[in-house]
Amino acid sequence: MSEVRVRFAPSPTGALHIGGVRTALYNYLFARQNGGKFILRIEDTDSSRFVPGAEQYIIDSFNWLGLTFDEGVHIPNEEGISYRQSERKPIYKRYADLLVDKGLAYIAFDTPAEIEVKRKEIANFQYDSTTRNAMKNSLTLSADEVKQRLTNKEQYVVRIKIDPGENIEINDLICGHVCINSSVLDDKVIWKSSDGLPTYHLANIVDDHLMRISHVIRGAEWLPSAPLHVLLYRYLGWADSMPQFAHLPLILKPDGNGKLSKRDGDRLGFPVFPLQWADPKTGEISTGYKEQGYLPEAIINFLALLGWNPGTEQEIFSLDELIHAFSFNRVSKSGAKFDIEKAKWFNHKYLQNKSNTEISLEFQQILSQKDIKAPLNYIEQIVALLKERISFVADMWEQSHYFFIAPTTYDEQVIRKRWKENMGNNLIEILHIIESVQPFDKTKAHDLTMDYIQQHELHLGHTMNCFRLALVGAAKGPDLFEIINLLGIEETKKRVLQAVSTIENKL
Ligand code: GLU
Repeated sequence: MSEVRVRFAPSPTGALHIGGVRTALYNYLFARQNGGKFILRIEDTDSSRFVPGAEQYIIDSFNWLGLTFDEGVHIPNEEGISYRQSERKPIYKRYADLLVDKGLAYIAFDTPAEIEVKRKEIANFQYDSTTRNAMKNSLTLSADEVKQRLTNKEQYVVRIKIDPGENIEINDLICGHVCINSSVLDDKVIWKSSDGLPTYHLANIVDDHLMRISHVIRGAEWLPSAPLHVLLYRYLGWADSMPQFAHLPLILKPDGNGKLSKRDGDRLGFPVFPLQWADPKTGEISTGYKEQGYLPEAIINFLALLGWNPGTEQEIFSLDELIHAFSFNRVSKSGAKFDIEKAKWFNHKYLQNKSNTEISLEFQQILSQKDIKAPLNYIEQIVALLKERISFVADMWEQSHYFFIAPTTYDEQVIRKRWKENMGNNLIEILHIIESVQPFDKTKAHDLTMDYIQQHELHLGHTMNCFRLALVGAAKGPDLFEIINLLGIEETKKRVLQAVSTIENKL
C-alpha cells in the first residue's frame, strides 16, 4: 500500500457530534496501524453555516481525547499549506475554471427565484441533462451573451456537467460494491461567484487530491455523494490516484429508529458532544462527556466498539490494542445503536484503573464545593472502600456522604421493620464492647460483637442493620466494621447515642 494519509474533515458548523468523534477515531486507528498520517482539515466553505468557536472546540475535543493529528489547521508547517478551506480560495477557482474550459462543467446564471419557478413547473425538478437546456447557462446562451454577463459582474455558479446513462462503480471498503447510474445525479453546483468559494464537493475532492489522501473514511451520510466525487476525480484527470472509500455505519438512536441526534441526548439525558458547548447564537449550553465525568479512554473504547467488533469477546481495549486490532472488514454495514449504559460501563471499568489518590483529589474538589474539608488520606481510604461501586467520581458523594456528615434522619422503613424493643440498649452495649477493643481492630471488634449477639440471642440482621442505621442513616454502605474503623470510635459513639435518642424518643 502506498503511504496511508487520512483526514478528518469537519465543517465548523457547531459542536462536534459524538458520531464525528467516532469517524475521527477510525481514521486515527487506521493511520496509526499503517504508520500513516492523520490530518485535520477544516471545511468551512459554507459561510452561511459557519459558527465562530467551532474550530477551536474541535481541536480542544481531540486534545482532551488524546487523539493527535500529524498535520492540520492547528499545526504549523514549513510549506505554508493551509488546512482551512476558506484560505485556499484561489486553488479551487483554478480547478473550477479548468473544468469549464474542458467542457466538463458550465456556467449557470439562473437566479434562485428562476429555479424556484422551474421547480413549480416541473415535478421533481433537478438541474440535469434533462432540464439544463431549458435553463440560463453557458450551454444555452451564446458565447457573447455569457461574456457580456460576466463583464457585467452578474452572479453565477459553476455546475458539473453529468452525462446520463453511465454506471458509476465504487468499491467501498465497508459497504462493498456500490453502483449508481449517472442519470439519477444532478448537475451539482461546484463553485459560486457570490463568495468566490467552491461548494463542499469540489473543495473536498481538490483537497483530498492535493493532500494525497489515500483513504476517505467518513460517515455513511456521504455515500450518496461518492458517485459525484468519483466523477470529479475522473473529470480532473485524477482517477488513477483516487482514494479508497470507507463509509462508516450511522450511529442510531437507542431504539434503533433513525440517526442519533442532539435532541435524543437532551430527551434521554446523555451528552452527544465531547466537551461542553455554548451555542454562540442561542446561548444554549450543552454538557459534554468530559463534564459528565467520563474518562477520555472510556469514550474511545466505547466508540471504537460502536460499529466495529474485534471478532472476540474482548471489550476492554487500550488505544494501542485498538490500533492493532482495527480492521474495515469488521466494521458493520448496518447502523450501530447508541447505548449510554454501555458508555457508563466502560467508564466504570476505566475508573477502576485510576489510583485512589487520583480519584480522591478529584473527589476532594467536589467536597470542597460542598464546604467540606477532609484530609486526602481520609478520602483515599474511603475511595479504596467504595471505588468498585462507582462509575463516575461524582458518584462518590452518594456512596459516602455519611463519612463526612453524620445522619440526622434515619430510614423509617428500616426502623419499622428492625428496631425492636430494647434495640437502643443493645446497641449501646455493643458500642461499649467495640470501645473496649484498644487499639481498635476490625476483626476483634467484629468477633466480640458476634459473641454478644449470640449470647443474648439477638436477631443478627436486625441488630447489625440498626447499628448501620445509626452510622449511615440508611441500610446501605460497606462492611460495618470498616465504617467504624474509618469514622473512629469517638464519632461512632456520638452517632449511636444520637440515633438511639432520636429514634427511641419517636417510638
Ligand atoms: N465536511 C464534511 C463533514 O462535515 C466532510 C465529509 C467528508 O469527510 O468527506 O462531514
